[in-house]
Order: sequence, then structure tokens, then C-alpha cells
Amino acid sequence: MCLRDIPKRKQLEEQLLHDAFHDQLTGLPNRALFLNRLAQAIQRTKRYREPSGSYLFAVLFLDLDRFKVINDSLGHTVGDQLLMAIADRLETCMRPGDTIARLGGDEFTVLLDDIKAASDAAQIAERIQQELTLPFNLSGHEVFVTASIGIVLSVEGEATPESLLRNADTAMYRAKILGKARYALFDTEMHTHAVALLQLETDLRRAIERQEFQIYYQPIVSLETGRIVGFEALVRWQHPQRGLVSPGEFIPLAEETGLIIPIGQWVLREACYQMRAWQMQFPRVPPLLISVNLSVKQFSQPDLIEQISQILRETGLDARSLKLEITESVIMEVESAAAKLFQLQALDIQLCVDDFGTGYSSLSYLHRFPINALKIDRSFVLNTGVKDEKWEIVRAIVTLAQNLSMDMTAEGVEVMEQLAQLKVLKCKHGQGYLFSKPVNSEVAGALITAHPQW
Ligand code: C2E
Ligand code: CA
Ligand code: CA
Repeated sequence: MCLRDIPKRKQLEEQLLHDAFHDQLTGLPNRALFLNRLAQAIQRTKRYREPSGSYLFAVLFLDLDRFKVINDSLGHTVGDQLLMAIADRLETCMRPGDTIARLGGDEFTVLLDDIKAASDAAQIAERIQQELTLPFNLSGHEVFVTASIGIVLSVEGEATPESLLRNADTAMYRAKILGKARYALFDTEMHTHAVALLQLETDLRRAIERQEFQIYYQPIVSLETGRIVGFEALVRWQHPQRGLVSPGEFIPLAEETGLIIPIGQWVLREACYQMRAWQMQFPRVPPLLISVNLSVKQFSQPDLIEQISQILRETGLDARSLKLEITESVIMEVESAAAKLFQLQALDIQLCVDDFGTGYSSLSYLHRFPINALKIDRSFVLNTGVKDEKWEIVRAIVTLAQNLSMDMTAEGVEVMEQLAQLKVLKCKHGQGYLFSKPVNSEVAGALITAHPQW
């Protein structure tokens, strides 16, 4: 190589070095450079700790609240323009010495160097949010955005750039949960919570392999005859250390992580097997029914219908003995809900709207979809005396169900007074602690044998 090329080579090297540490789209520092700057800031906290001990910095983690919607509706070019415009706006909020980076997607981070107090970081977060409220004009489209921001402050002791970034991310996530378009300050409680959640998720994955799930059955009673006509299958988790975990604790997480799919399939198969076994052991006219809950994720599976038919074939259970409980959110949020409901109806499977009365006010879906039954949410029945206003809601829903020729189940029946009143209203079915709590298959079998009447 001749000497004359050296400046050129230097230029190229510099270019490559620059590219390795910057985001191509916005020209901002990238994750690698940001972590680098964070590491330096952490070093400074150690250096200045004693004796004056007052060097403080903060990390902001910013995520746009509905970037995907903008990207999907207006296209990637506009999406890119928006990200560049955001980078510009962020820069106007910064002080010299602060670092803004783009981590990727719609995630930005800010290192606020040498602040006086935590409130400085909050103020800057507020200023950013204020700045973002002005509309963006992108290729003729007026676009409004909001952002959720997580804040973490430098602490004494052991912190790594990665752990600080993770904590800022956790706080950002909290801001989203609290309703978006706001900021949240990280605290150790959040960390404990995040770690506990992660642990639960790990345990949950393992629980599937180790088959730690169990089904409890709660009887559903005909209020005409006072006899058990079926059971609702309610999943339980036998955790090796924590004992029996209730679904309220793990179903939301299972739903979020997609683990609900294998768990739900197992529940459906197991419950159908069990009901088929009971039907053969205790022949009744009409045969006992099994109700199984299906969540939004489960219902969204493209092969749901095949899965269910397969399970019915495998277990030999008559489709008419299976009732699926879905919430109003399934009907509203799953795009293919109508088609799926009609397919299920064609198979002779019964469909019940669970937690009725807590969801959407629009009732128009009721006569458009093939729904057989309503299950009024237990909050309307629980602790409700017949003179209560809440009881008027029960009355109204029973009437609604009757007018639509649907069955109606009241959940959360705990005392005799409620039962008597439900009978007066001619509500068809009841379920609740008054009859029995959910019990394991052995106890449920004994209950069928005992053939109680209420
Ligand atoms: P859900 O479908 O509304 O189930 C009824 C819940 O009410 C059950 O809680 C049951 O134990 C409780 N319950 C019944 N009678 C009474 C009563 O008289 N008083 C009171 N206070 N409570 C009563 P559980 O078993 O804790 O289940 C909670 C929720 O978890 C269920 O609400 C359901 O949404 C979900 N879940 C349970 N098993 C499954 C499952 O296999 N798949 C899916 N996707 N969700 C499930
Ligand atoms: Ca249910
Ligand atoms: Ca319910």
C-alpha cells in the first residue's frame, strides 16, 4: 500500500468505528455505545463516593405506546420518519453531557449525567412527555404519540450497565401497566416482583413437563331438580414448594407467555376423559356435562376446532356433553370468533358466556352468535342479599337469558337465601360453595355417588 492511501484508510476506519457504535437510522449512539457510557458513569460513582459522595446519574428507558399501530397503518417509511423526528425532539430536551441512544425498534434510552436529585430525572421525563404531545407532521400525516418512560437512579454498590438497563426497562413496563403515557421510577420492590414473576414463569414451564397440574371439579346444580347436572373443570397447580397454587395466580402469566396453550389442551383432554369415565360409571338421563374454560389465546389458535374434535374422538365423549366457557373479551378480541363459534355449534358443542355482566356493554353479539348459556359473574351474586340493588342485575340478566331462550347459571351461590331467590327467578343452574367448593376427582366421584339434592 502506498503512503498516499493512509488518510483514506484512516477515514474508512473511522467510518467503520462510527458505524459500529451508532444507529443507522437516527445517527444516535446504539446499545453498545450506551452501555459503554453507562460503564463510565458507574466508574465515576465509585471514584466520587468518598468523601464528598455526591455524584448521581439516571437512566431513562423510553418506549412509544403505539408505534406498531402507526407502522402498520401508515407504513415503514412513515414509521422511520417518526423515529428520526423523535430523536430530534429528545435532543431538544437534553443538557450537554447527556447521552441519548436508540436501542432498536421504538426503544430509546437516555443517560442523565451528574444530576442533583431524583426529581431532576422526573422533570426531564415530564419535559420529554410534554415535548411529545405536539403532533408530528410526517409526509402529510398528522401523527400523535405518547411514550412510557422508566427511570432508574444510580446507586452505590454493585451495579452493571446491563442491570441498570434491565431495571429501567422493568420500570418502563410498570409505566405501561399503570396506563401508559407516564413515567415510573424503579424501586427494589419492582425488582423483587420482576424476579418473582420470572421465577414463576420458569416454574410454570417446568410444571408442564413434570405434569404438576391437577383438575378440580365444582358441581353445577339444576335449580329445578336440585340435582348435580355437571361440573366445571378448574385447573390447579401442585407446586413442589408452594403447594396448591390457584389459577388466579398463574393463568394471567400463562396467558401472557403462551403457556396457556399446552396447559389448556391438557385440561380439556383430562376433563373430557374424566367426564366420559363418570358417564360410564354413573349413567344418567340426560348425561352429566363438563364445562371447560377457554381463554383468549386458546380461542385464537387457528387449529382450535380440529384440536377439540380430536380430543372428543380420543376420549369418546359426546360433543353434547361438552360446554365451553368463554368470556366476552374472547368474542370481542378474537377476529375469527364468529366463524369459530358457528363451527363449534355445528359440532354440537355448547357455548356459554362466562363472567357475564363484567365486560362490554354492547349486547348485540348475543343474538348474532350461537350462544347457549350465560353465566352471570359471581360478583353479582356473592354477598348479595335479595334486597340489594345488585340483585336487580341478577334479575335483569335472568330475564334477558329467558327472552333469548338461553340457559342461565348463577355462580358464587353461598347461602340458602340466594338459592331460594334464584329459584323464584327461575334461574336454571347454580354453582357455588353452598353446593360444594371445587374438589378433586375422587371427592367429585363420591359426590356423584351420594346423589345429593338441594
Ligand atoms: P371462573 O371461570 O369464573 O371460575 C369460577 C371461580 O369461582 C373458581 O375460582 C371457583 O373456585 C370460584 N367460586 C365458585 N363458587 C364460589 C363461591 O361460592 N364463592 C366464591 N367466593 N368463589 C367461588 P378458581 O378455581 O380460583 O378459578 C379462577 C379463574 O381461573 C376461573 O374463573 C377461570 O377464569 C380461570 N381458570 C380456572 N381454570 C382454568 C382453565 O383450565 N383454563 C382457563 N383458561 N382458565 C381457567
Ligand atoms: Ca368459568
Ligand atoms: Ca365465572
